[in-house]
Amino acid sequence: MTAVWLPGDLRAQILHQAATAHPHECCGLIAGVRMAADFRVLALHPARNLAVDADRFDIDPRDHLVASKAARAAGHQIIGCYHSHPDGGAEPSARDLAGAGEENFLWLIAAGGNLAAFVYLCGGFVAGDWMMSSG
Ligand SMILES: [Zn+2]
Repeated sequence: MTAVWLPGDLRAQILHQAATAHPHECCGLIAGVRMAADFRVLALHPARNLAVDADRFDIDPRDHLVASKAARAAGHQIIGCYHSHPDGGAEPSARDLAGAGEENFLWLIAAGGNLAAFVYLCGGFVAGDWMMSSG
């Protein structure tokens, strides 16, 4: 089982970013602490979406670099990424699977006002279990 800890305000931030970007996908990187299968989200780093097509995302490498440096400076690491599915479900698409590569990486997907968590492990996505202390 993979435990995902996400503060309510950060959850709201992702959903707000997804709604603002609609009909395009929003995207960003997730900073926090990862211990084995336990992911604690501590900060979000919204990123520019370089993808031309509306239904895909491609995180700007410059934003990735800035997020990595900020995370390191705070004693965190980049433990995952998030993006939205403007017209799809809150589950990884075939395109997401093709684009995933980093092992034990958290993926949060926003769709229709919902947020779902997955972890990329051994070539596939497994559903994450939400652990939320408040709301
Ligand atoms: Zn996707």
